[in-house]
Amino acid sequence: MLGQMMTKPLLISSMLDHAELYHGDTPIYSVETAGGLVTTSWGEVAANARRVGSVLSALGLEPQARVATLAWNNRRHLEVYYGISGAGFVCHTINPRLHPEQLVYILNHAQDKVLFIDATFLPLVAAVGDKLPDLDHVVLMGPRDDDAAAKVPGLKFYDELIATGDAGFQWPEFDENTASSLCYTSGTTGHPKGVLYSHRSTVLHAFASNTRDCIGYSARDVVMPVVPMFHVNAWGTPYACAMSGSSMVMPGPDLHGEALVKLIDDLGVTVALGVPTIWQGLLAYAAQSGSKLDSLERTVIGGSACPPVMIDTFRDSYGVDTVHAWGMTEMSPLGSSNTPLAKHMKLPVEEQRKLRENQGRPPFGVDLKIVGDDGEDLPRDGTTQGDLVVRGHWVLDSYFRREDEDTLQDGWFNTGDVATLDADGYLTIRDRSKDIIKSGGEWISSVELENIAVAHPKLATAAVIGVPHPKWDERPLLIAVKAEGQDPSEEELLAYFDGKIAKWQTPDRVVFVEALPLGATGKVLKRDLRDQFQDVLTG
Ligand code: AMP
Repeated sequence: MLGQMMTKPLLISSMLDHAELYHGDTPIYSVETAGGLVTTSWGEVAANARRVGSVLSALGLEPQARVATLAWNNRRHLEVYYGISGAGFVCHTINPRLHPEQLVYILNHAQDKVLFIDATFLPLVAAVGDKLPDLDHVVLMGPRDDDAAAKVPGLKFYDELIATGDAGFQWPEFDENTASSLCYTSGTTGHPKGVLYSHRSTVLHAFASNTRDCIGYSARDVVMPVVPMFHVNAWGTPYACAMSGSSMVMPGPDLHGEALVKLIDDLGVTVALGVPTIWQGLLAYAAQSGSKLDSLERTVIGGSACPPVMIDTFRDSYGVDTVHAWGMTEMSPLGSSNTPLAKHMKLPVEEQRKLRENQGRPPFGVDLKIVGDDGEDLPRDGTTQGDLVVRGHWVLDSYFRREDEDTLQDGWFNTGDVATLDADGYLTIRDRSKDIIKSGGEWISSVELENIAVAHPKLATAAVIGVPHPKWDERPLLIAVKAEGQDPSEEELLAYFDGKIAKWQTPDRVVFVEALPLGATGKVLKRDLRDQFQDVLTG
């Protein structure tokens, strides 16, 4: 016997319909690429998204044709997101910080037909345009601009285009498993791989983000995704915020501390999301300017390990709670988030704080386990470490146009992370499997050493890598960036590890650099550091 309830497909357009109907006048603040702040609303975003949908449909694209974006976080990008997926096409967000060759590979592999761009990326598109045989239309996200038109043949202009669109366009209904959006992993080896999300996975992911012990946005929140819309759909904020009717602040191209602090203070941001490197700049500017970040209640920090000192600074200096989250492109991205359990509230404050440092627990809908070299399940005892494997409603099954490859092992996706799980399911990411340091047969977590190093007041940031060593195979090397006006010695930095970890885990050496190399999503490029410093202990 089947259940007798309605089946309404889980479609992305339905989240925008909800925002329009129940939160139509809730403001969406957008920093324009050319500068200046524009205030629009969920109602206007919805009307323009329908215009975009009608215009794309009129172009005669095949269902599920790929429509790409190269854009910052702004109102037009939000309209385009919904317009593309809502009309049954696939919204392919591209990371503009990729190397142009990778960009060309991705656009061709995805067979993108239309490309929406911000003005920043005109030179890029002008340079590679003739290498994109599938691309039929490029749309500049702004008003008509004759200089721009001269650079890219046939360039169309967003504001003109949507003026011809139909605000009464009806979103089509289709199978909820239809592809909705596409994001390529910033693979460090080989070609980037495409992760093709569905309407169903996207809506379920938004429901999960909106549970109270995950992130749980509300209609009273003002949410600022600093994480770009090209980094796993800004961690799903455009969807979860429409579902909850939250106001949004789209910060545009300038993600420096000063710009972000001003947006938080001027617009009353309550929740902000981003990778740790972004918050370093923000905290430095807040300290310098004296801002108390009064409105900010929570930060959601993930993408790479959030140093405990950052969680402490947000809490102790600004009264801001940090939710440390873990995930990946292949998981839409949310895999876990750190919020406390009832029993933790009775613990001494120091213990409670310690428990908030790790990557947290999965929401309903994600299964996590750790396995050994032969794929056997390992105990959840908080100390045994193994390969972290996952499955769930918003976890990838196979990569786009690589369906014949074996992506899963026994139905589980191997994340490439090495982790421990404790009895309550709290996850601690020890390392990427390729970054973990193996010294004399023992494992050393580079993340753990980095967390200690960045708490040193004379350091701005730091990374730890394993480098070849004649006796121990590999030893940890600390690569440090001095804080402004500070000049710490190697000895005092190494002494800082005393008593915090076992003596043999302490890095062998420190090298100072001006800045760490960062990848397209703000993560430290450890491979580059290994190339540069591999001879430090042997040379
Ligand atoms: P990406 O798909 O580019 O977002 O990268 C996903 C990877 O980033 C994960 O597999 C982890 O290695 C890393 N990552 C994401 N969030 C965290 C976190 N909170 N702590 C440690 N590593 C993280």
